[in-house]
Amino acid sequence: MLRLGKNIGGYHGETIDIGEVLREIGKAAAENHWTRDSAAGPVEFTAYRRPAASPRRRAYVSTGIHGDEPAGPLAMAELMRGNQWPGDVSLWVCPCLNPTGFPLNRRENAGGIDLNRDYREPQSAEVRAHLEWLERQPDFDLTLCLHEDWESAGFYLYELNAGPRTGLAELIIDKVAAVCPIDLSPVIEERSAQNGIIRPVFNPEDRPLWAEALWLAARKKTRLNCTLEAPSDFPLAARVGALVTAARTALEWI
Ligand SMILES: [Zn+2]
Repeated sequence: MLRLGKNIGGYHGETIDIGEVLREIGKAAAENHWTRDSAAGPVEFTAYRRPAASPRRRAYVSTGIHGDEPAGPLAMAELMRGNQWPGDVSLWVCPCLNPTGFPLNRRENAGGIDLNRDYREPQSAEVRAHLEWLERQPDFDLTLCLHEDWESAGFYLYELNAGPRTGLAELIIDKVAAVCPIDLSPVIEERSAQNGIIRPVFNPEDRPLWAEALWLAARKKTRLNCTLEAPSDFPLAARVGALVTAARTALEWI
């Protein structure tokens, strides 16, 4: 599979009608008996949750925080439509954290804020509503944040693991490699990487701007977080396939 070579200086690939994708997700959620949480505000916040039949673990999946990363909400739609979840994992999902960014095909929200840098001292209505909701939810065993990267040479991921189990990054890479190229660069996003895996080492308190994943880890809301990055210079179907495969692998693993 070859790079498309059209994403020069930004994402220039397919875009989605986010309203349509979210309606489809809402329909699948209603059909499969999820509870919908929403908060009115300048931008409506929406999440869905569903207890497992025999609950053993809790998992959270979010996406759509960057409006120029269409594969995330599309992967969420495929997961919700497919409705193939492990029977013992209770689930919480946020299908689109930046609904005003998608119509503009822009990373930031309509007000120009990169929401994924806004979790330490939130300025945006979107992140405030998200955190207000998150703080009412229980802690998770696993959290997944679905993203895309227009610069990358293949799929890669970040793993933040507080233990006690070893992580699942290698397993995800193994499974995704069957459907999408892996970025094997030794340095990705200025961090050292190995076989498509970045395990950042830092103290969150030293960092002025927090991503969603950093908030989840720093506030001990999750034991394990994987931020999944599909390569947006590849065909859309491969990117959606990579995110769906990674999410299903992770949810089966916990
Ligand atoms: Zn992103």
